[in-house]
Order: sequence, then structure tokens, then C-alpha cells
Amino acid sequence: MNIAFYRKKKQPSDPLSIVYNKIVETQVRSKNQLQTDLVIVLKAVRYQERNQIITGLSQHNGLISAITKNSIQSRRFGGTLEPFVASEWTYLAKPGRDLWRLDQTSLRSEFKGIRTSFEKLSLASVFNEIILKIAQPEQPTPQLFQLHANALDLVEKTELDSQTLLVILNAYLAKILHWSGTQPSLTCCKNCQTSLTEIQGNVLCLVEDAGWLCQNCRSTEMHIKERNFVHSIEPIALADFMFYLSHPIKQSIHLFQSSKAGQEQILGFLKRLLGYHIPGFNEELKSFRFLNFS
Ligand SMILES: [Zn+2]
Repeated sequence: MNIAFYRKKKQPSDPLSIVYNKIVETQVRSKNQLQTDLVIVLKAVRYQERNQIITGLSQHNGLISAITKNSIQSRRFGGTLEPFVASEWTYLAKPGRDLWRLDQTSLRSEFKGIRTSFEKLSLASVFNEIILKIAQPEQPTPQLFQLHANALDLVEKTELDSQTLLVILNAYLAKILHWSGTQPSLTCCKNCQTSLTEIQGNVLCLVEDAGWLCQNCRSTEMHIKERNFVHSIEPIALADFMFYLSHPIKQSIHLFQSSKAGQEQILGFLKRLLGYHIPGFNEELKSFRFLNFS
């Protein structure tokens, strides 16, 4: 009797629980092993005498923070810990700890050209500040990573005058809004459904509804509440906004149609939309003050 019971217990009688145990075992083990991910550095902060804490956007693990021991005045990481630099990180992730240990890096792109002008550096800094606000740890964000990498590449390679700077900024903000789950409805008037292509004169933008009203409907006061009202925008500027939402950011600088004033209107609308629809997003980011649109 006893022997039979013993044998029964030893037998792998439940294949599902065996598989489950194996998965748990692998997860625990892999959490303690070295892992790799592609990371773009967002900020580096000195920690104690010789260490740094590096925060970056990773391709597969969202926002990631790691400590780099003895990295100050050391050539071990060879410039890969500077903001905007993309490299493959090998790191040790420990369960229950937010701060991982960076073991080594392998450079992919320095985006060196960003540091060649104050305008480029300022614009790229705005992008980094936005990512720091919206990305979360341990959240796979391949699309956000791709957008950020494409944007840095575009800033690096583009000659920035004030209008191009506005266009790239608007295209980036539009993509961020879309990524965060807000899809503005811009093809027609929120009230009468008149198409944007048939509109004469400016339209009135609605923040809460992420849409707009035509001249005829703005007087009906439907939809208009204090928090909903922004300002009027040229239809052609709204068409650019729609283009930014649906096309790769690299196309924005070649195919925008509106004037600089139109781009400024889009920026005003986008800031209000982001501030309203993304929790914790501040309309006036610290890094905005370095941008010069004049
Ligand atoms: Zn209307």
C-alpha cells in the first residue's frame, strides 16, 4: 500500500503541471541571467563617486534603468552611455528590482549629428523628455522605439530651419498621441459631417472630442465647453496633422503643405490634446523652452 502510494506520487501523472513548473523555473532562471536589448539612452545621472544610473528606451522592455559601476572616467562603455546613443545592452535583471546592472554595451548608432547644432540638440531633448514621461518599465514598446529612432535619425540628417523644426516636432507629437491610444477624428466636422476638403475658412478645434467644428456649427455651441475650446485652425494645417498621423515621420518634411503659421496652430492643438488625453503629460515640457521657432 505504501509503496503503491509512493510510486503514484513519483509518476509525472499531470503533464500540464509539469509544463507549468518548467515555465516558472525558466522564468525565474532567465530573470537572474544576462539579457540583451536594444536601448536608446534618454538620460544619465551620476551616482556616488564613480557610478552612473542610465535610463533608456528599450525595444522590448520599455523604459529601462541600469546602474553602471565605475563608468565615470572609464572607457569600458566607450561613449555609449551618452543621451541619444543607441546600443545593444547586456544587463542583469534581478526580480523585484527596478535598477538593473549594465554589463556591457555594443554601439549601434551614436546619432552624432544631433550634437552639431543647438536646434537639433534642443529638439532631440524634447523627444527624450516625452519618452521619459510616457514610457513604462517592462512594457514592450517596439513601435515607440522605432518612432524614437526614426525621429533621432531625421533630426540628425536634416538641416533645421524654424519651419522644418516645427514640422518634425508636430509629426512626432502626432505619432505620440496616436501611440498613446487617442485617434483624432479630423476628416469631417463633428456636428454636420462636412468634409475637411469642402471647408472654407478656419475651423474650431475641440480638445476633449479630438475633432473640430466648421464655421456654421461653431455658432450652435454644441460640443463647446471651456475645456473643449482651443483656437481656430486653417483646414490645410489640419490636413497636415492628418498626414502626420498616418505616414512615417520621415515623410513629414517633404510633404507638408501649410505655412509656418499653420504649423504653429497644429502645435498649439497638439499640446492641448496631449495634455488632456495623456495622464501626467505636461503641456509645457521643460525642454520646450529651448526651442526657437522665430
Ligand atoms: Zn459643421
